[in-house]
Amino acid sequence: MVGTGAGGSTAMKILCEAGLEVCALNSGPRIDIKEDYRGHRQVYDLRFRGFGNPLRFQGKAHQEPYSVEESEYSEGRDLFEHDIAYSNAPGTDWYWKRCKATGGKANFWGRSSARFGDIDFKAADLDGFGENWPVDYAEAAPWFSKAERYMGVASTIQNRPSNPDGEYLPPLPFRCIDFIIQKGAERIGVPYLPDRCAQLTVWHNQHPSCHYCGNCSRGCDIGAFFSPTWFTIPDAEATQHLTLVTNALVREVLVDENGMARGVAYVDRTSRREVEVYAKVLVLAASCVETAHIMLNSKSRHWPAGIANSSGELGKNLCDHLYGSPGYGYLPQLLGQPARPDDIADSTIAWMPRWQNLKNPREEKFIRGYSVYMGGGCGEFPGYYGRIEGFGSKFKRDIKRYYPTTIDALIQAPSLPSATNYVDIDAGKKDIFGIPQLRFHFQWGENELLMWEHSKQVMIDLFKSMDGELWGADDEPNRPGTSLHETGVCRFGNDPKKYVTNKWAQTHDVGNLYICDAGIFPSCTDKTTTMPIVAFTMRSCDHMLENFKRGVHQRL
Ligand SMILES: Cc1cc2nc3c(=O)[nH]c(=O)nc-3n(C[C@H](O)[C@H](O)[C@H](O)COP(=O)(O)OP(=O)(O)OC[C@H]3O[C@@H](n4cnc5c(N)ncnc54)[C@H](O)[C@@H]3O)c2cc1C
Ligand code: SF4
Repeated sequence: MVGTGAGGSTAMKILCEAGLEVCALNSGPRIDIKEDYRGHRQVYDLRFRGFGNPLRFQGKAHQEPYSVEESEYSEGRDLFEHDIAYSNAPGTDWYWKRCKATGGKANFWGRSSARFGDIDFKAADLDGFGENWPVDYAEAAPWFSKAERYMGVASTIQNRPSNPDGEYLPPLPFRCIDFIIQKGAERIGVPYLPDRCAQLTVWHNQHPSCHYCGNCSRGCDIGAFFSPTWFTIPDAEATQHLTLVTNALVREVLVDENGMARGVAYVDRTSRREVEVYAKVLVLAASCVETAHIMLNSKSRHWPAGIANSSGELGKNLCDHLYGSPGYGYLPQLLGQPARPDDIADSTIAWMPRWQNLKNPREEKFIRGYSVYMGGGCGEFPGYYGRIEGFGSKFKRDIKRYYPTTIDALIQAPSLPSATNYVDIDAGKKDIFGIPQLRFHFQWGENELLMWEHSKQVMIDLFKSMDGELWGADDEPNRPGTSLHETGVCRFGNDPKKYVTNKWAQTHDVGNLYICDAGIFPSCTDKTTTMPIVAFTMRSCDHMLENFKRGVHQRL
């Protein structure tokens, strides 16, 4: 197993529980709950007030700080990847944020967990663009249920055509602003409903319910939301079938005389020595583009263009969510109200699930659709500080004045698969361990930019309908990569000439090589990726175990 994030750790759990001996390699250190999670410290307890030592990236290959998830709370522990450089092709500005600790990004994720539906799986049938997924909702639904039952997802039954309902814990309570937004949205024909959020509103599978302390994005010190650190990794370790190796940066897949996977070669980050590990079956779950990076670097006489790449599709069709604020402002009717700690720990409490192109797939200028999350409420930190002008004591007074009133929208618009969006190896450049670097080629397409413009008009209408005051909108969308919901690059499908893996995430070319991350998703949807990664990993592992039973894979 390569990677112990949402995908890899789910596979570890299932395969260990089935009695297989699993060796899992993780590129960085092990998470230490006491050290790495925020543990109820306040920003004023920290030397740099939570912003971190400005000199901390000196000498690193990748010097940009990551967003909320990387901060002074976890500083000094080297949980995030700044040593491995990557390149951007001319005109590309991809922001590749990586967590190298065990558990990966889901230590700090936002927990939004909606199901995909046939509107996503069969989108090509509806609007004629691209290709359908190799599964339909009837086939995927039991796996979504299994994932939700395990993870614990809070929401309500909503009967919306774009968002199949699942099996839910009670929803997170609305903030004050949500009631006002909901009424305003209703007036302009836009749904505003509880999101599907993998945060425990009640005790669930022996995990405690949330006590609403705030700042989940810095890790939960009691395990009240799904994360590999609290859920899948301990479950796998309890079986005593797991060997977990940390600081093991996998460089390439090794092959046998027939071109099948024989194991991997990794660099031990501490000693800088190269080590080989052998396996009967190999699972790559290094997180979408990093899985493609390892595969593209796995060249041999059998696979001159990278392992399992006879289709030439490896690395192609990189997709992402376009993020950005199409509108922010405040609700004057809440000025002077008492400030209550009602932002419920920066969770995605409520959202506008996709409402466009539902009756007719081409009723808008763009195809498919987007969703919107609404931030606001009295969080610990006044994130709207950058939206207000001024300085000194008037600025401080304004911060306090607007505290319970502000709203900030976030669009989540899927990019369409495109031949010009892909990753490849930047042959001339190597990282500090001598591994050839990954290079991104990516631009936002016309379709997602039309969604961006559309959402700005929706926000103008919404602020009017709820008697709010719109301060503005972002000048342009966030940089590609910001959402952390990249998909594609190792897509699954039935035709070996067009897809890297079959419908079970088993590569067409190399029968003992599976992929358990969002790399297999053929297109991006208006929903987030993690719960589906868990669900599809459960499904792929079930198939793999069946293959062990049938003798397709050998244990010894
Ligand atoms: C702040 C934040 C908010 C988010 N919000 C949401 C949300 O609301 N909803 C949602 O669905 N998703 C959200 N996400 C995204 C979500 O976290 C990811 O989709 C998910 O964690 C991906 O899981 P993964 O296992 O594919 O990859 P990762 O979590 O990145 O795990 C990959 C693992 O592979 C290891 N690895 C990488 N390269 C190598 C190598 N060469 N050798 C060995 N090991 C390697 C890494 O150490 C890591 O452990 C958010 C993420 C963040 C950080
Ligand atoms: S708000 Fe709840 S889920 Fe978030 S860190 Fe606190 S206890 Fe954990």
